[in-house]
Amino acid sequence: MSEVSMETIVNLCKARGFVYPGSEIYGGLANSWDYGPLGVELKNNIKQEWWKFFVQQRLDMVGLDAALIMNPKVWEASGHLETFTDPLVECKECHERYRADQIDLSAACQKCGRKETFTEPASFNLMLKTWLGPKEDATATVYFRPETAQAIFVDFLQVLQTSRKRVPFGIAQIGKAFRNEITPGNFIFRTREFEQMEIEYFIRPDEWQKHFESWLENLKAWIRHCGIDESRVHDLEVPVEELAHYSKRTVDIEFDFPFGRKELYGLAYRTDFDLSNHAKFSGENMTYTDPVSGERFVPHVIEPSLGVDRTFLAMLVSAYTEEEAPTSAEGETEKRVVLRLPKQFAPIKIAILPLSKKDELSLVAKPLAEQLAKNWRVDYDETQSIGKRYRRQDEIGTPYCVTVDFDSLEDKAVTVRDRDTMKQERVAVADLEKYFNEKFNN
Ligand code: ATP
Repeated sequence: MSEVSMETIVNLCKARGFVYPGSEIYGGLANSWDYGPLGVELKNNIKQEWWKFFVQQRLDMVGLDAALIMNPKVWEASGHLETFTDPLVECKECHERYRADQIDLSAACQKCGRKETFTEPASFNLMLKTWLGPKEDATATVYFRPETAQAIFVDFLQVLQTSRKRVPFGIAQIGKAFRNEITPGNFIFRTREFEQMEIEYFIRPDEWQKHFESWLENLKAWIRHCGIDESRVHDLEVPVEELAHYSKRTVDIEFDFPFGRKELYGLAYRTDFDLSNHAKFSGENMTYTDPVSGERFVPHVIEPSLGVDRTFLAMLVSAYTEEEAPTSAEGETEKRVVLRLPKQFAPIKIAILPLSKKDELSLVAKPLAEQLAKNWRVDYDETQSIGKRYRRQDEIGTPYCVTVDFDSLEDKAVTVRDRDTMKQERVAVADLEKYFNEKFNN
C-alpha cells in the first residue's frame, strides 16, 4: 500500500488543475472546492462509467434526473425534517463547534485547550434552507435536497408506469446534494455541497437478503473497475443502535484515506419506509401489483449510495505512485510520479507532443490531434523538453503520449509511449486510430 499524504494529493490537484479552492480570489469560501480542467474530466468519467456500469449495461435499471429543490412535504414524509440531525456541541470558551459523536467530550477543546467547557449536545438539522420567490417567510421555505434518493421514491409510480419495469428493478440518479455539515474538511471528503450517485432497487420484501448480498458484490465490482486499491477497502456492519431512521441493515464500505478509515459508500436496506411514508403523506397508493400472480405489495428497497467526490479522492489515493525511472543519462535514475488511473477514467487519453515547435512538425501534429480528438480527450503540448512533457503527462495519468519528430515527415509514423511501461513503439499515422481503438477497448 503506497503511503501518499493528503498534502501531496492536494498539491498535485492544485498544481495540475484537478481541484482548486473555491472563490479563491475573494479569500475562498471555507471547504468549497472547484474542479478544474482535469478534475472535471475525471469527475465526468466517473459519472459516465458509473452510468454505463449500473444503468446502461443492465436491463433492470432506468435513470432519473429530478429537480433539486422539492416540495418541503417530501422532507416531512422522509423523516429528514425531524431526524436528519447531528449532535452539536460548542466550546463555551472559544465557541468552536464540534460533532459530539466525533470527539471525546471529556477531553480538552482542540482549539483553545480548555477542559470541561462543552455545551450539552443539541440536535442540529443538516438540511440547507432557502426561500423560493420574493417572500422570505416560513410559507416560502424550501430545502436543498440532502440526498438524491427521495425524488426516486416520489417519482416511483410515474417511473413504474412509463418504463413498464417489473419488480425487481432499480432507478438511478446522479446529482448534487447539500448538507450543512458541522465539521466539513479533509479536502473534498466532506463538503457542504457534493455529488451523489444513488440507486433505489425495488424488490419483494422476502427477497431482501439475496439482493443485499448481490448489491454488495456489485459495489465491490465497481470499486475494482475504478482501480480503487482493494487492500484499503473494508466493510463495516453498522450496529443496530446506530442505524439511520429508515434502515434495517446498513453496511458502510470504508476506505483507508490518508487521514484514516472513513466511509466511502453506503449500502442500506430501507424496507418500505420511504414508499409507505410517501403514500401516507401524499395520499397516493404506492402498491405494486405483480402482473403474473396478481399479488399486491409495497416494494422494499435496497439502496447503494455512492459519493462522486469520495470516489474521486479514493481513486487519486489509489492511483498515485512514485518510482525511480531511468533518465536519458546512462545508468542514472530520477523520481517519476505516475497516476495509474484505469485508462477509461484518465482525464486526458492521448497527449500529442511534437518534438519541437517548428512549423513542419505542427503541420503534421495539429491535424493528427484534431483527428484523434473526435474520439478521445487529447492534449496538445509543444513546449519544454520532451522528458519534462512525459513527466507531466505521467503525473496526470495520461495513458499514451504520441511524439511527432522529424522522421515522421519521412516515414509517416509517430512514436507512441505507454504511461505504465514507458515502452515506446513506432506506429504508422494511418494506423493510429485503429491502434487506439484496440488499446482503449481492451
Ligand atoms: P458520513 O458518515 O461520512 O457523514 P453518511 O453516512 O452521512 O456519511 P450517507 O448519507 O450514507 O453518508 O451518504 C451517501 C454517500 O454520500 C456517502 O457514502 C458519501 O460517499 C457521500 N457523502 C455523504 N456526505 C458527504 C459530504 N458531506 N461530502 C461528500 N460526500 C458525502
